[in-house]
Parts: sequence; C-alpha cells; structure tokens
Amino acid sequence: MNQSDIDALRSQVLSPRSHFIGGRWVSASEGGHRDVLSPIDGTVLTQIAEGTPADMQAAIAAARVAFEDGRWSRRSPAERKKVLLKLADLIERHALELAVLGVRDNGTEITMAMKAEPMSAAGTFRYYAEAIDKVYGQIAPTAESVLGLIHHAPVGVVGAIVPWNMPLMIGSWKLAPALATGNSVVLKPAESASLSLLKLAELAAEAGMPDGVLNVVTGSGRVVGETLALSMDVDLLVFTGSGATGRRLLEYSARSNMKRCYLELGGKSPNIVFNDAPDLSEAAKVSAGGIFRNAGQICIAGSRLLVQQDIHDDFVAELVEHAESMRVGNPLDLDTQIGAVHSLPELDSNLEFVAKAEAEGAERRTGGRRILEDTGGYYMAPTVMTGVKSTDNLFQNEVFGPVLAVTPFKDEDEAIRLANDSVYGLSSGVWTSNLGRAHRMIAGIRAGMVHVNTYGGSDLTVPLGGVRQSGNGHDKSLHAFEKYLDLKTAWIKL
Ligand code: ADP
Repeated sequence: MNQSDIDALRSQVLSPRSHFIGGRWVSASEGGHRDVLSPIDGTVLTQIAEGTPADMQAAIAAARVAFEDGRWSRRSPAERKKVLLKLADLIERHALELAVLGVRDNGTEITMAMKAEPMSAAGTFRYYAEAIDKVYGQIAPTAESVLGLIHHAPVGVVGAIVPWNMPLMIGSWKLAPALATGNSVVLKPAESASLSLLKLAELAAEAGMPDGVLNVVTGSGRVVGETLALSMDVDLLVFTGSGATGRRLLEYSARSNMKRCYLELGGKSPNIVFNDAPDLSEAAKVSAGGIFRNAGQICIAGSRLLVQQDIHDDFVAELVEHAESMRVGNPLDLDTQIGAVHSLPELDSNLEFVAKAEAEGAERRTGGRRILEDTGGYYMAPTVMTGVKSTDNLFQNEVFGPVLAVTPFKDEDEAIRLANDSVYGLSSGVWTSNLGRAHRMIAGIRAGMVHVNTYGGSDLTVPLGGVRQSGNGHDKSLHAFEKYLDLKTAWIKL
C-alpha cells in the first residue's frame, strides 16, 4: 500500500447505492435516500437507499426462498467452500478499494483499516471456507439395537445487524460462518457505514453466491433493523452494537418468534498494570495504542487503566507522552496514527464525558478537546483523565472515543475488585512478570478475554465474546459455528 495508490481513490465520486436483494440492486420502495457524511471533512460522500419495512420484508422473503429450495443450504460443504474461497480472493484483490471506501465513511486510519477490514475479512472467509468440510457430525454411544446420529443443520434465515466501526471485519465475523454452514443472510449495515458491505455483496455475487443467499438492506435501525428483528420468518439474529439496541433486539425476539439472539455489545475494559510488568515502557506504549487507535472506537478498547500506586505517576507521565506524540489527522494519510471520530454527535458525546469527569473531580492530563476543526472533519485529541473514582461516570460508562480513565490500585485484590466493578465484561489486560499472579488475574477477572503483557491483536483462532452486559455468544474461531448450526438428532431403531 502506498500513498499514491490511496490518493488515486480518495476523492473518487461515489454513485448512490441501492439495496442488494435476491441478487439484484433494488431501489428503496418509496424512493428514499439518505446522505452518507464523511467524518474526514464533514462533506456528503454519496447516498444510500433509505429502506422501508417492505424492502426488508422483500429481502427476508428472498432469503427464505433461497434457503428452502436448497440452492446453497443443500450444496455440499466442498461446493460452498469453493465460492467462499473465491470471495476471499476477490476481497483481497479489491482490498485497497474496500479499505478506502470504508475509511471515507467511517474515519478509521488507513493503516489499521487495511489490516482490520479487507485483509481480515478475506482471512475470515478463507478460515470458515476451509473449516466447513472438516466439521463432522457424531454417532452417539448407544446400545447396538439403535443408532443415534447427531447432525449439524443450518438454522435457516439469519439476520445480521452490524455497527459502523469495522463493518467489514465484524460483518465477516458473522457472514462467513453463517454462509459457510449453509444459512441465508439478510444483512443490515449501520446507516453511516454501509458502503464497504454493499461492495462485499457485489463481490459475493461475482464469486458465485446464488441469488437471495446474501441480501443487504440499508437504512435506519429503527425502521429496517426493527422489521428484521421483529420478523416471524428470521430464525436467528446476530448483532454487534450498543447495549440499548441489544436490549431492544431481545424484546423484539420475545414479541415475535423467539428467534435466538447473539449480542456483542459494549465494554469498559480494564487494562491493569502491576509494578512487576516485564517492560513498563512497552506497557505504556501498547496501552496508549489499546485505547487511542481508531480514536478509541473499538469495542475491546482498554478504556480503564488501573495502575499500581507506586508506579502510577511515572507510568502516567510516559503514557501522556505517547498520547501527545500520536499523530491525529486525515485517516487517508499513511502517517496518521489516529483517524477521525465517526460523527459529530459522537464527538460531542466524547467531549461531554470529559466535562462530566472534570466536574466529578478527575484531572485532565492531556487532550479533551476537538482539533483540526478547520478541516470540517471530526477529530479529537487523545485524552487521559486521572484520579477517576470507581463511582464516576467515566469509570462506569462506555465513551467509545479516545478517552482513557486512569485509577490507581494498591494490590492484586483491589485490582480485581476494581476490574470487576462494571456491568460489562468484554476484554481486559494484565501486565505482570509473575506467572502465578497472571493466572490468578485470568481466573479472577470477569471478561470474555484477558490479554497478558499485551493488549489487542488476537487472531481468528480464538473466540471473541463478552460476559454480563457485554453480550453472549462468540465471534471468531470454530466456536462461532455453534451459533449458526442447530443440533438435529436421528434416533434409528435397527
Ligand atoms: P452504535 O452505538 O454502534 O451506533 P447502535 O446499536 O445504535 O450502536 O447501532 C448498531 C446497529 O444497530 C446499526 O446497524 C443500527 O442501525 C442498528 N439499530 C439501531 N437501532 C436499532 C433497532 N431499534 N432495531 C434494530 N437495529 C437497530
């Protein structure tokens, strides 16, 4: 990837996009459009279709027909694998185009976007494509007179609702295992970050995905998202986004057909630094990256830094230096380390968190303000707040922005107590060279993931999912298949 290739794409005119339903591009039934704003400079990039309930119903019907007639669901795993591998190749071939498209509507710095979006999506499709013809059913240990077979059957029509941060990566975490196992999918991207997923649908068709197996409907969560979640004909809902929406989806499920819901929600992940960390400078650098990359807009961001009392001041000083040296700017410039905040309301909300933290007695050590306003874009200086108490708003609530809350602790017991003093339980980190302590922390922290002497960067081989109000179910790894497959028993008298 070089700057001139990026520059060739950065101001390309983007034509308005329609829904992708039943293998065709379809305009919104009432002809509505919605502007897509670029957080890079606040300008209108293009328009997407403003979906209606009727559009969503049409997509669900297309997915149902495709599922029932077996054009994909009853193909052999080896045949599905072929199409998905081809899709992975196509994603890779269009990687820069996909990455730039995504950055233009969501603001992630291009270096991260390239790796975390198309390249990770290609890897995800390849992983599940390769896995699907290696997963066996089971024969139960019965008496000789009977045969108990345990089949894995696709669930049916899967609704996937995804957010604006990392749409390709998160979208692929859902789409790849859902499609590999033979389901049909209706995807609802976030209103403000639909472009790269619409392109993905186009590539899937080119790879040979039969019509109706992957459908994409754009528009408002409260309209088309709600129609999808309330549908009597959707068997499974997978979601990444806010807790408030997750709660609604559970309600919609209860009010309709009790479809299974797997939710990946927010976090307020503790990153815990002990005085015996193997390399405190490395810990400071990685911890800064763990909260500030992508302007803090990562669900697993290490947004609560717990630091042992005796190293607190020195550690914070080093961390502040890193925060101040990270280059915030146009996410399409290769030397930018922190891109844009996704939208103006997000930026305002970040600033409000800072103001409230100050009112509650925290000290702003750096950042806390909007920068580069003359670009028209939405940028925020990486922010470090110290003296944050466990009862404070900033300790308890997710900012989803470049704002770090720092709290000192005395010993292991207090570290675990503070770490678990949260309604969330998504990710966490521990820095120590004491192996026993590392394992005690792994056992004691209530989170779906504990990093030790690093933060972030896990690959596809391990599951990602939360506990408590961070959600249920897992993306990534072979465990993700469990969500998209039903167990079906055959009990055969011989
Ligand atoms: P975020 O804070 O990441 O924007 P949201 O939960 O608001 O989180 O959005 C995540 C996804 O959920 C988006 O695709 C959005 O359109 C969708 N969504 C929002 N509200 C609803 C709803 N009531 N029903 C279904 N989907 C929704």
